[in-house]
Amino acid sequence: MIDLQDKVTLVTGAGSGIGRAIAETFAKAGARVWVTDVDAASGEETVSRIAGSGGNASFLALDVRDQADRAAVRDEVHRTDGRLDVLVNNAGVGHVGTALTTTLEDLDRLHDVNVRGLLAITQAFLPHMVERGAGNIVNMASIGGVVGIRDRLAYCTTKFAVVGLTKSMALDHAMQGIRVNCICPGRVETPFVQARLAEYPDPKKAYEEMCATQANGRMAAPSEIADAALYLASDASSMVTGTCFMIDGGWSAGK
Ligand code: NAD
Repeated sequence: MIDLQDKVTLVTGAGSGIGRAIAETFAKAGARVWVTDVDAASGEETVSRIAGSGGNASFLALDVRDQADRAAVRDEVHRTDGRLDVLVNNAGVGHVGTALTTTLEDLDRLHDVNVRGLLAITQAFLPHMVERGAGNIVNMASIGGVVGIRDRLAYCTTKFAVVGLTKSMALDHAMQGIRVNCICPGRVETPFVQARLAEYPDPKKAYEEMCATQANGRMAAPSEIADAALYLASDASSMVTGTCFMIDGGWSAGK
């Protein structure tokens, strides 16, 4: 049984889907969990769910694009707990489009959250981690950060960047006691996927096609991604840094 007893953890985008599952899994493993999200109502709901099962969680509003939010979150975590052990950069947004249908504004919108926001919140906590000689960062990339996906030009562009950022940071900070890894899920049944499906003329057909891209023919549950985050966040993975943890039902195995 992997445990996160006494670890101070923070999850971005923890009001929904994969982020909520990670926050709940961390709390079950004994962690102190800072639930953050741009959407306060959903973040507060995650905290209530955790509190309802005896876990230790608090909510802080965080739009990863907002400098004032990032500084306030860092200050509150350090003031209350004195440190952050594990940062999970999960917040992300998607878009359906090719090079013909994706505008530069679409690209900027995804980049601002998926890359710029992820790096900026990491930079808020990194100096203190380096000073302590300890830190663990888990980035939510995607299968779309390892192989191209049809009709996901902007999304894949940002997720390839997350993989590059993860590997570069892992090298830069390995000797400072900091591990940096990313998770690359295939399709996961969350509101994020529901939103993409709604962009297709025939959502039912699109759903079946999405399931078929996984070699095992189904989407993942958010908890199946959270279990990987738990491993990477824990001391069980102490030799693991700079890796892309594929959780894609075999999608990338044949590529
Ligand atoms: P989701 O839409 O269910 O949840 C995303 C959460 O991020 C929401 O609570 C939302 O409010 C929050 N968020 C959005 N913009 C934000 C911002 N600017 N600042 C802070 N929070 C913000 O999505 P999900 O499916 O749980 O996806 C979570 C992560 O996993 C994303 O990075 C996504 O790219 C990645 N991912 C998802 C899938 C999938 O199939 N669902 C597959 C691969 C990767």
